[in-house]
Amino acid sequence: MFRRMREELMNSEANAEIYMKFMKSHCCYDAIPTSCKLVIFDTTLQVKKAFFALVANGLRAAPLWDSKKQRFVGMLTITDFINILHRYYRSPLVRIGEIQKFLIQAFFHIYCPSHPNVISPDASLFDAIYLLLRYKIHRLPVIDPVSGNVLHIITHKRILKFLHIFQETVPKPQFLQKTIQDLGVGTFRNIATVQQTASLYDALSLFVERRVSALPVVNTKGKVVALYSRFDVINLAARKTYNNLNISMQEAIQQRCCFIEGVIKCLPDETLGTAIDRIVKAEVHRLVLVDREDICLGIVSLSDLLQAMVLTPAGIDALLAF
Ligand code: ADP
Ligand code: ADP
Ligand code: AMP
Repeated sequence: MFRRMREELMNSEANAEIYMKFMKSHCCYDAIPTSCKLVIFDTTLQVKKAFFALVANGLRAAPLWDSKKQRFVGMLTITDFINILHRYYRSPLVRIGEIQKFLIQAFFHIYCPSHPNVISPDASLFDAIYLLLRYKIHRLPVIDPVSGNVLHIITHKRILKFLHIFQETVPKPQFLQKTIQDLGVGTFRNIATVQQTASLYDALSLFVERRVSALPVVNTKGKVVALYSRFDVINLAARKTYNNLNISMQEAIQQRCCFIEGVIKCLPDETLGTAIDRIVKAEVHRLVLVDREDICLGIVSLSDLLQAMVLTPAGIDALLAF
């Protein structure tokens, strides 16, 4: 009987490790699409032009190239745009109009780490997931070790999509049948939300202070009525309306030019498999966990899913608490 129990235990452990092994046996190069656009900014580019260029090219981030050092030095992301807007919007010393003329390198020492996190195309997807979650970043440049060129920017979305494409080739782990609630996948406490009557400046303050990637927007009854993500802030550059952050969240939501209708949600008693299918299909970074009355209970983000599917089975826990 003990031998059978041990075998069952070993089988269930092996079963839980399927995705971890998949990620260890595929390299970053495998997940790079055959064709895609990559825009790189020189650090002497004006901040304003850089963010307009992101909008014009439909991009979320760009690697930064230092032509003096002749190397890649970091990433310019929408989070940087938010940090700059928030820092200078109410500054008595610098007018928001003036900062637009600044060069990227002027902000670089404030916001960017001395060494960017990068990965080699030969490194495993497991290592890429580890870096993304360990350093709480959403963009990991894949750098050719010979030329030093950026080949691609790997993201949580791309990695999960890659797994989804190959899902028929690997057996399905049993944990996919378990519910979000039973597995405890996601964040369930201290959720950063914003009232729809709050100002856009309040939302930016939450992005800066809580370092969350999105805010469920709630009404006075606490029901989730929309989702405002860091990505949506780039609309301010697209519409050139960053001089007025006093508008309400309701107005900010209506002003978005490119957004998803409704909120992509999940319920605590839905299975992990259902949540993965929904998040991949909707191509969003997170699901808002709600009860049947639409009251916000938590967030299930791609970081939480990759932690549960890949890092936890490898015995790497609580990276998100670093
Ligand atoms: P977003 O979700 O807006 O794309 P990220 O979470 O990727 O932003 O970035 C958060 C912060 O970390 C930003 O200041 C950005 O410049 C920085 N950053 C992003 N990727 C890297 C990286 N690979 N190495 C170092 N810093 C990074
Ligand atoms: P990124 O690709 O930079 O991670 P996001 O997934 O955060 O971007 O956001 C892309 C767009 O999808 C934004 O307009 C955002 O408001 C929307 N979005 C993201 N998550 C949800 C969600 N759960 N429900 C509805 N819209 C969402
Ligand atoms: P992300 O940056 O979305 O990949 O998520 C990193 C961690 O922050 C995950 O554990 C998420 O569940 C959590 N998280 C994301 N958004 C929020 C939020 N609005 N409030 C609290 N936690 C969040």
